[in-house]
Amino acid sequence: MKKKRFFPFLLGGGVFLVLWTIPLLFGCLGTKYLPDEKNISSEEPLVPSPSEPTITLLHQGNHITLPLEEYLYGVVAGEMPASFEPEALKAQAVAARTYTVNRSKSSNKDHPEADVCSDSTHCKAYLSPEELTQKFSKNPTDLEKIKQAVNSTKSQILVYNGEAITAVFHSTSSGMTENAEDVWGNPVPYLVSVPSEGEEASPRYTETKTFTILEFQEKINAGTKTVSFTENPQNWFSNWVRNESGSVKSVLLCETEFSGVELRSLLELRSANFMVEISDVITITTKGNGHGVGMSQYGANHLAKLGYTYDQILKKYYTGVEIATD
Ligand SMILES: [Zn+2]
Repeated sequence: MKKKRFFPFLLGGGVFLVLWTIPLLFGCLGTKYLPDEKNISSEEPLVPSPSEPTITLLHQGNHITLPLEEYLYGVVAGEMPASFEPEALKAQAVAARTYTVNRSKSSNKDHPEADVCSDSTHCKAYLSPEELTQKFSKNPTDLEKIKQAVNSTKSQILVYNGEAITAVFHSTSSGMTENAEDVWGNPVPYLVSVPSEGEEASPRYTETKTFTILEFQEKINAGTKTVSFTENPQNWFSNWVRNESGSVKSVLLCETEFSGVELRSLLELRSANFMVEISDVITITTKGNGHGVGMSQYGANHLAKLGYTYDQILKKYYTGVEIATD
């Protein structure tokens, strides 16, 4: 992330404005961040115009540098329904800002020239200014609500031991969030399981998927482990181990061990918190939507409805963090 991008230079007796970044390509941002030419004369010392932190985004194949706060309008709009409570949207804005600041501190091997990308499965969802205008053409006040959530928390990030945290979030928990180590293998002190009420309001709180026996076998064996399926599916699953949230830590499938996270991926389940019923088909019912770590968006909205402020919401989901100004 770069703090300063626009530097007017004096060369000889003339004034040349060197504009580094993309406002000319990205017209909607240009006007706001161009230095005011009327104030520049050869008699006056030139100071860099105060500028906003910027990020470089990989969006639809293009590298775009834009102010962090502008980027966040597109992220909050892409990641959380505008119908959510203002305090939930503010919590989302701070979490997304923190995530971005954290990401931009190290190079990403999948897109080394960009701090973040707009693929929601890799970084965070993002809507461009044009997409925002289109999406909110019938409800412009919703877009204002999102911008307000970003503007009113400007520069605020979550820190732990003075460092921007990995502020992961998800749609809907199972009623408890997950420990980071249960999902990604390594413990993170501020990403620990906490109760999360009100998740039933989410349209994705539960889902039931049905597989034929053959489909199920094919999906499992499409992964890196090969299972020798025995004749009777009723005996396939054994040794269920669940964590405190009820998610599957491990289970034996015909003597081959899988984590719930592995089965979630292979079977494209909404979460690793699931029950299996076996008849002539295999029926799997999940609770929650997403990895379950960090802030639950539906949980945050529930808390906002109860009167929690955005900082209280964030401190509930990210244990031991503080809010700082970047
Ligand atoms: Zn990415």
